[in-house]
Amino acid sequence: MTTLDDLKGRLLEVDDLSSAASLLKWDQATYMPSGGGIARGRQVATLTRLAHEKLTDPAVGKLLDVLDKELATRPDDDTDRALLRVTRRTWEQSVRIPGALVSEMSEHTARTYQAWTVARPSNDFELTRPLLEKTLDLSRRMANCFPGYESIADPLIAFSDYGVTAKSVRALFTELRGRLVPLVRAITKRAPADDACLKKHTPEADQLAFGLEVIKRYGYDFDRGRQDKTHHPFMTKFSQGDVRITTRVREDDMADALFSTLHECGHALYEQGIRADLDGTPLSAGTSSGVHESQSRLWENVVGRSRGFWTHFYPEIQRAFATQLGAVDLDTFYRAINKVERSHVRVDADEVTYNLHVMLRFDLELDMLEGRVAVKDLPRVWGERFHADFGLAVPSDKDGVLQDVHWYDGPIGGAFQGYTLGNVLSAQFFDAAVKAHPQIPAHIERGDFAQLRDWLTQNIYQHGAAFTPAELVSRATGSPMSIEPYLDYLWKKYQPLYALTEDERR
Ligand code: ZN
Repeated sequence: MTTLDDLKGRLLEVDDLSSAASLLKWDQATYMPSGGGIARGRQVATLTRLAHEKLTDPAVGKLLDVLDKELATRPDDDTDRALLRVTRRTWEQSVRIPGALVSEMSEHTARTYQAWTVARPSNDFELTRPLLEKTLDLSRRMANCFPGYESIADPLIAFSDYGVTAKSVRALFTELRGRLVPLVRAITKRAPADDACLKKHTPEADQLAFGLEVIKRYGYDFDRGRQDKTHHPFMTKFSQGDVRITTRVREDDMADALFSTLHECGHALYEQGIRADLDGTPLSAGTSSGVHESQSRLWENVVGRSRGFWTHFYPEIQRAFATQLGAVDLDTFYRAINKVERSHVRVDADEVTYNLHVMLRFDLELDMLEGRVAVKDLPRVWGERFHADFGLAVPSDKDGVLQDVHWYDGPIGGAFQGYTLGNVLSAQFFDAAVKAHPQIPAHIERGDFAQLRDWLTQNIYQHGAAFTPAELVSRATGSPMSIEPYLDYLWKKYQPLYALTEDERR
């Protein structure tokens, strides 16, 4: 057996254990009765610990050293060298964190998630407060396994967005915020769009059927995936042959399930599009949460909320929801699904205000990690910041600090910046695809997504994690990440919708 085969064999076992843990988590978030919570937390922790032990085995370090030499003469873009680079990065991250801390975090997280599923509907922050305090402590301990950081959030950010730091995110957010706030102000001066047509009672079964039909046309492969219901929608992968998505349905808001399905499908298209020969290795995953989110937002918003998309799909949804939309024209519907308003809930937010929600969370994460805000004060501080940014009072913790699953199902830190990086990149990638194939918008108008999907597969999906996020963006778009395509995209979309004037552009 070659050194490389030995390494791949070990990595496959790590992947098997992690995938089994992911399956248990998927079950917990979909079908498991609530009584299973405590044991499930332990089971996931055991598998996570075993995976961690296997990965951090000193023998793996030795194999990596040998392979460094063996593969040194191969070209930079060689797949085995990419595997070596990514494995070494993951290995170095993992050996620094003690196994006991990994399993403590994992078990604690499962308990906290279970508590959150009760706390959120009953608007009971106090139920999660002691757990969240421990999460903060564990998150700090995790970050402190990586001494030498500039911000304590940096190591946590690096887990999901390699190459990004608190400082670089802050710089990007400051620039973006300076351009978004005037846009939000200009739009919200106009009369709000009427979205009553989306709020008519629409049976769950009809909503699910329509969403599934759209993602079939997007190219989601149902032989390698399925959709189920959950509290907080997500995508998860157990292998290249099994990439699942989840959604939730509100019968009084038909946009909720549909756009969450399109969003998670975007994540799934990325994972299903990775080269099959990378399966079971650390390369068989999206390269970062920012790039992943660019794909969910691209399919949800740039495509799914576009005029062209609905030129094709509106007659179909009118047939599917005849009672609700039969008498509503396309213009009204298009304005409704792109309504911009200052609102409380991030996942329901429009494309223009969405990033302000993310910035609030990112800043609060940093405040907690850096000791400026205590968990017990979080609801109050959230309320103050929200009022400052949105001019609204927070009606309840349910629609405030309890609304997002993130701090309740993982560490505090590194969880939110990816959303805004993703929004920014979604426009940059789409732009590059249309430059390469100018007929893509016309294809979308006839419900044909093959050319767009092929470009994304060619330039992004197939590579998995073989390139760093920065390399991937440069290779695919010809330039580093930039906010300009995104701001351009927003302007071209919302200027006509809200009759904005040119002097409101800055
Ligand atoms: Zn997402």
